[in-house]
Amino acid sequence: MNRKFKKIAPLLIITLLGIFSIGSYSIYKNEIGQIKTNINYQLINKSLNIKEYFQTSEALIYSLKYTIEDKLNIEAFESIKHPAFEAIKYDEKKNLYSVINFYGINSIDLSSVIGIGKPEELNTETIHEINSALHLKSIFNASMEIIPDLKWVYYTSKNNFIYMSPNYYFKDDRNLKEQYNNAFWKEAIPKNNPDGDLIITDLYKDGAGKGLMTTLSMPIQKNDSFQGVVSIDIGLNTLTHLLPEDILIGETYLIDEKNQIIASNNDFNLGDKISNKNSIFIPIVENEINLVHNIQNFEIRKEAFFNGIGKITILFLLLLITFIALYLKALLTKVQYFANTDSLTKLQNRRSMQREITSLVNISKRYKHELSFLLIDIDYFKRINDKYGHQTGDKVLIEIAKLFKRNTRKCDVVARYGGEEFLIALSNTNLENAYTLAERIRLYAQKIEIDNYNINFTISIGCTKLKEDDNFFSILKRVDKLLYKAKEKGRNYTEKEEEN
Ligand code: GH3
Ligand code: MG
Ligand code: MG
Repeated sequence: MNRKFKKIAPLLIITLLGIFSIGSYSIYKNEIGQIKTNINYQLINKSLNIKEYFQTSEALIYSLKYTIEDKLNIEAFESIKHPAFEAIKYDEKKNLYSVINFYGINSIDLSSVIGIGKPEELNTETIHEINSALHLKSIFNASMEIIPDLKWVYYTSKNNFIYMSPNYYFKDDRNLKEQYNNAFWKEAIPKNNPDGDLIITDLYKDGAGKGLMTTLSMPIQKNDSFQGVVSIDIGLNTLTHLLPEDILIGETYLIDEKNQIIASNNDFNLGDKISNKNSIFIPIVENEINLVHNIQNFEIRKEAFFNGIGKITILFLLLLITFIALYLKALLTKVQYFANTDSLTKLQNRRSMQREITSLVNISKRYKHELSFLLIDIDYFKRINDKYGHQTGDKVLIEIAKLFKRNTRKCDVVARYGGEEFLIALSNTNLENAYTLAERIRLYAQKIEIDNYNINFTISIGCTKLKEDDNFFSILKRVDKLLYKAKEKGRNYTEKEEEN
């Protein structure tokens, strides 16, 4: 009913809002979880590519190392003169000698040995080493093919020469000597790298103008003593391309062991460090390179909110529909109540009465239960109206309805049949008991007080029971006749059907 609904409405709204809050929160949390999982998934996926890139680079540098060491250690090989070696040249101004080593007839890429001093002053060891270095042409060439965007491949000898691919012209002997101050050399030599490990340098700016790059270096031994360093330079662009681009939020970096950025999709300066504690770290090269993803919590929250807003709206609409449905149901109950209830006495009205009695009749016939009926009419009701007024007449109707309700059970039907006439169906009641009840009601009715004043009215009652071939109308007809008889007998009387 409406009053009942109004009573539970605040509780219902609080419950629905509670469900909405918990629901939205769990949708939101779920979105956050999904975003994090998605980012992790993409990062791990990407990190595998980056690892692969570095593994290939490492593999390459190891194969360069072993090839060079092989060539240096085989004396016989040194005596096989490389044809390019015959064309050794000396530039007096630069104090540099050079041997240009063509890759091929149609190739514009060159590699060359550049060294300090006059060629005729070179000792035998150095001559042999230059000759060996020149034989690296094919593997240097292959390296450029294997690793995309490889900037330089070079072998730097402790004997003051560099074999380099592609070709590079140093300004003078000082310029070449400066190379030995760079990280690729200093970090790789035995003094700083006693175990002969692979070195990955910090990101630095290339002296030859090829932009930012990082170098992978390995020391080279000849007969167990240090001879030089082999290196490959990887450009920043290559590293940047390896980073994930499709992650929507946050920034991804490659950083070295000092937390310095070596690549990023975002702008950064040389030497910039990463310091966010909430970052996701994925190691790429043990103790050397990590993949880092920085993500601000508010970015995730914002993303989760926008991702979840559709679901949250649907949840809201569902709860709103639930509320409306419950409201409509309460409204329907109310409408049904009004449609079936007499507004004055709150008893069932005629419409409802017919339906209920028909159903009672069917059930009683089916289960062979007895069923009795009372048709009750107030005597000289017109006079009550005339004498005390219509309002008092109404009060009489209300009070008598209460009397009927008090003296019947829930399973009985008590209805206002019309004006001041009432029909009662007594389920599971035989005629005798119905008559007893009718008499009790009749006596009680006389004692009803209206506004603490006994207006002394009486009722007449027709009393009958269900017969085998009865229906609603046949019962009505019979009980009405009995009531008429009661009236004829002088009113304030119960006329019971004759039992045969
Ligand atoms: P009888 O003993 O023969 O039944 O006499 P009576 O006056 O009760 O019968 P009658 O059918 O002549 O009058 C019924 C009256 O009941 C007429 C009508 O004004 C009155 N009445 C019907 N419905 C209501 C109602 O809802 N309120 C009031 N106050 N009076 C009503
Ligand atoms: Mg009457
Ligand atoms: Mg009447």
